[in-house]
Amino acid sequence: MKLSYKKLSVIILLVALIGTITYVTVNNTNKNKSALSKKMGLKAKPKQKVKSNKNDEQTIRTFKGINLIHNDKIIPTLMYHSVADGQANNSAVVPVDVFKQQMQYLKDNGYTTLSLDELHNFIQNNKPVPERSVVLTFDDGYEDSYTNVFPILKAFGFRGTVFVIPALTDKPGPYLNSKQLKEMDKNGMDIESHTVNHEKLGELSSEKQLDTLIQSKQMLETMLNKKIQYIAYPFGSYNNFTVAEAQKAGYTMAFTTNDGWAGKNTDILLLNRVFVNSLKGMDQYVERLNNPNYK
Ligand SMILES: [Zn+2]
Repeated sequence: MKLSYKKLSVIILLVALIGTITYVTVNNTNKNKSALSKKMGLKAKPKQKVKSNKNDEQTIRTFKGINLIHNDKIIPTLMYHSVADGQANNSAVVPVDVFKQQMQYLKDNGYTTLSLDELHNFIQNNKPVPERSVVLTFDDGYEDSYTNVFPILKAFGFRGTVFVIPALTDKPGPYLNSKQLKEMDKNGMDIESHTVNHEKLGELSSEKQLDTLIQSKQMLETMLNKKIQYIAYPFGSYNNFTVAEAQKAGYTMAFTTNDGWAGKNTDILLLNRVFVNSLKGMDQYVERLNNPNYK
């Protein structure tokens, strides 16, 4: 069969038309697909971003997708001390199995454990974080922060912060040594200050407060070769001078032992924390994680 030029040009035109229609349709479907996955939060995978500060290689994640909150909301910052067995009557010592159970609860319920850099960025710069965020802090730098807490957090892929008393480091006693601190610092745990010798800041003059605030910061910076920016006040003790002195010493965020969730509801140098009482059961733990006005 011989095609005339006329017929041939009609066929070419038809093929071109079908091609164009197919292209436009496929393209639109893809666009709808990506809009849908955005809507459903399917692209919520955190992006890793390395901080430019060369002394501080800790990563701050950028969270994407739905269910992000801004700093008009507050976040539970849990306060632990020791995680160990054999001290069943001490409310500040959480048995290892109970601690594992608590971490399992966080995992099963989709919690994200924030680093202190991430909490700071959330409060100060309004950088959004997942709705179910929690911060894990461990006061005093007991050796079980290395032997018990560290491996459990690692297994769950969680982040935690240890507030260390540098005068007790490498001394006899149940405290972390500098080798352990360095290893934890290099492997996702955040090491921060708890004053030089666990002083009650609220009972010190402003000069003495500044001394221990600066010295503890410098001792840890020398040991870990990183910037120390955060502190927990021992015994939760502070007075009218403390915020100004902490600021002068170079801290950008600090924690008390005042009950409640943390955020813009207080000064950033007087953040609340949620006490994890080992004598109370899982019910209280869950309530404190879910109710910002917990009793
Ligand atoms: Zn303490």
